[in-house]
Amino acid sequence: MSTDILSLEPKILWNHFYHLTQIPRPSGHEEVVRAYVVDVAKRCELKWLVDEAGNVIIRKPATAGMENLRGVVLQTHLDMVPQKNAGTAHDFATDPIDALIDGEWVRARGTTLGADNGIGVAAALAVLESSAMRHGPLEALFTANEEAGMTGALGLEPGALRGDILLNLDSEDEGELFIGCAGGLDGTMRFSYSGEPVPPGYFGVEIWVSGLRGGHSGMDIDLGRGNANKIMNRLLRMGRERHGLLLASIDGGSLRNAIPRESAALAAIPSAGSAASTTSTRSPGSAPASSPPILAASA
Ligand SMILES: [Zn+2]
Repeated sequence: MSTDILSLEPKILWNHFYHLTQIPRPSGHEEVVRAYVVDVAKRCELKWLVDEAGNVIIRKPATAGMENLRGVVLQTHLDMVPQKNAGTAHDFATDPIDALIDGEWVRARGTTLGADNGIGVAAALAVLESSAMRHGPLEALFTANEEAGMTGALGLEPGALRGDILLNLDSEDEGELFIGCAGGLDGTMRFSYSGEPVPPGYFGVEIWVSGLRGGHSGMDIDLGRGNANKIMNRLLRMGRERHGLLLASIDGGSLRNAIPRESAALAAIPSAGSAASTTSTRSPGSAPASSPPILAASA
């Protein structure tokens, strides 16, 4: 476990970021990180509250002589997206993140780093803790469960904040200022199907799509990255049309806000030359019956 990031400047910020990497904090499991943030408020003798939605609000009075400035709210979220590479043994409920310095970047070994939004939380805590900064009335808002439904932000009581200007510290691009957002939409689609026994002449195959880069479903959606679910579905449809493939199970993607990296399916396909391999499900112009069935794709 590397502690290199403790050497980075400004120390007041990276010290908090390091401690945040040591606190497992997937969405919905924010008790410990919430306590960490509240501890900073207690240590700095600042007023704080935790609301019913699990959000933390900390208030820091203005520096002497700056009381009449407009109040500023620094907004961040407590949770992080827990994603790991296949083959990485990591339990996001209990294991700390192994952050390391790689050139001019801070990265994590085999997992997401949690810079979204750990660096925002660290920045807000650094401002709360700093005795060197001069500022008007400050509030820091740490919302709960941002990555899995924004229930903290949605549950924030109207009037809970006093500041006039809210700065959302949950952006990934330095030097860019966002003044709006397109929003998001969750969908739940249900289909019904009737099962059937595997016909004679079929054999079972396991199909994997893996090795994709993944990414954030919002921030990275314009980068043209492969979506394992889409690739799998195209492959299965082609298998169905050309070879009469029958699907037994399918499971792809792991989070609603991450581009799926992997997908797995169990299917049955007719053996070459079997009666089933010449069924009428074959589309016109497709491969002849003797061609081998497509079993796997990698991207
Ligand atoms: Zn975020």
